[in-house]
Amino acid sequence: MPLPAFVYDALPMRVVFGNGSLDRLPEEIDRLGLRRVLVLCTPEQQNLAGQAAELIGPRAAGTLAQARMHVPVETVADAAAEAERLDADGYLAVGGGSTIGLGKALALKFGAPVVAVPTTYAGSEMTPIWGLTENAQKRTGRDPAVLPRSVVYDPDLTLTLPPEVSATSGLNALAHAVEALYAPDGSPVIAAMAEQGVRDLAAALPALVADPRDRGARAAALQGAWLCGACLGATTMGLHHKLCHALGGTLDLPHAQTHAVVLPHVAAFNLPAAPQAEAALSRALDTDDPSAALAALADTVGAPRRLSQLGVSAADLPRIVEAVLANPYSNPRPVGRADLEQLLTGAL
Ligand code: NAD
Repeated sequence: MPLPAFVYDALPMRVVFGNGSLDRLPEEIDRLGLRRVLVLCTPEQQNLAGQAAELIGPRAAGTLAQARMHVPVETVADAAAEAERLDADGYLAVGGGSTIGLGKALALKFGAPVVAVPTTYAGSEMTPIWGLTENAQKRTGRDPAVLPRSVVYDPDLTLTLPPEVSATSGLNALAHAVEALYAPDGSPVIAAMAEQGVRDLAAALPALVADPRDRGARAAALQGAWLCGACLGATTMGLHHKLCHALGGTLDLPHAQTHAVVLPHVAAFNLPAAPQAEAALSRALDTDDPSAALAALADTVGAPRRLSQLGVSAADLPRIVEAVLANPYSNPRPVGRADLEQLLTGAL
């Protein structure tokens, strides 16, 4: 049988991975020739950002602890004013997807590079995808300028990520790999990364929820998150991401928890139509029923399993169905109105 044809367009990513790799930040900043970096974080992660700023010493022009979920345009305007005031020539994002998203928004506006130090498993640091929220509407787009030029993964920085956030953030990462395995623009490279990412995360998540200070499990989870994030950056996502985007955007639901609830349902719907993906997931999860294994994993790590747990009610579902039907997207199995209603009711 001939092998499937593919196009593989490698993204220019640089990854520095390892326990204690935060110490390599000065070198990474110097490699890019940056001299006046604006350090970004959430209000909750000021200590860590302060540690990063201290490490890079005079290369830090200032710190802004205002990153917020979904990158509101008001936050970006404040950050842009600060970046201009400080004459920043780059942005160091220390934190999860929200903080990295703020760095990307500044890169989109000014063209200066982002260096990322991810502390969750969301994977934004591996993608050229930016997002901006204005009047409760989230816009997203792709631009190579927002892809971080260097990413420092230090698993020790994830030791403080609470078990429940670790679990949902890890399932969010798994969803990138699951959808990359049946993406129209997949390739053998992406398939290998996705399979290994799922293997790493599925092994690590139960261990780190049982013991959040397990450094081995933390390192395996972050490595898996990197691989899954790279899959997200390189491929076109399908029904799962479309649904989560519609749910999150329409009902203002928490990002990672929404992914955690929806993933087993979409996997059960799509995998029968995606035999290659099903085979890869079966190998990675050591099972012959990967969608059941994903549901069992979500149970094991104590993730929310129903949309109703996130405050969604049956009356909300028609709006979600309409939002998903409004724009076409790629998916291995055709999705009609009745399919969506059934899937969402199951997830509720
Ligand atoms: P987050 O960045 O919003 O972080 C959640 C909370 O956890 C914050 O309060 C943060 O300060 C805290 N936190 C982060 N790391 C911590 C740590 N190690 N220890 C203790 N607390 C920690 O959450 P997220 O799930 O990483 O990111 C979600 C956002 O990222 C969403 O807006 C989503 O749309 C976006 N995202 C974008 C992409 C992309 O490619 N553009 C990919 C994935 C996610």
